[in-house]
Amino acid sequence: MGDTKKVKHAGRFGARYGRGVRSRIIKIEAKQRQLHECPKCGFKRVKRISTGIYQCKKCGFKFAGGAFTPETMSGKIVKKMTKQRSFLPLARELIEIKEEKQKGLMEKKEELKEKQETEQGKEEKQVK
Ligand SMILES: [Zn+2]
Repeated sequence: MGDTKKVKHAGRFGARYGRGVRSRIIKIEAKQRQLHECPKCGFKRVKRISTGIYQCKKCGFKFAGGAFTPETMSGKIVKKMTKQRSFLPLARELIEIKEEKQKGLMEKKEELKEKQETEQGKEEKQVK
């Protein structure tokens, strides 16, 4: 009951919510009901248990993901960020090196200034 030719299982809403909304829900529900690839064993046996919760029917691996799909664009970015956390000490080292370089540059700049000043002084002396 509820399935229609035009909006398939979204027909369960009857005449409510309008055609556009009902046809849109078909797309989303098709995605969330699909079997997804398991990040642990690689088999396409992952099923959505509840909002944001997925479990692999093959190896039993349970994990959190997006509300309607196991992986979302923003989720991918967050994953990258958490992965890069292991590089935090390295990043800190880089920052320290940068700071040291900047200090060195500042000193070099000062040296250059002094040189320029002395050269200017020489030129002035030569002019005199
Ligand atoms: Zn699995």
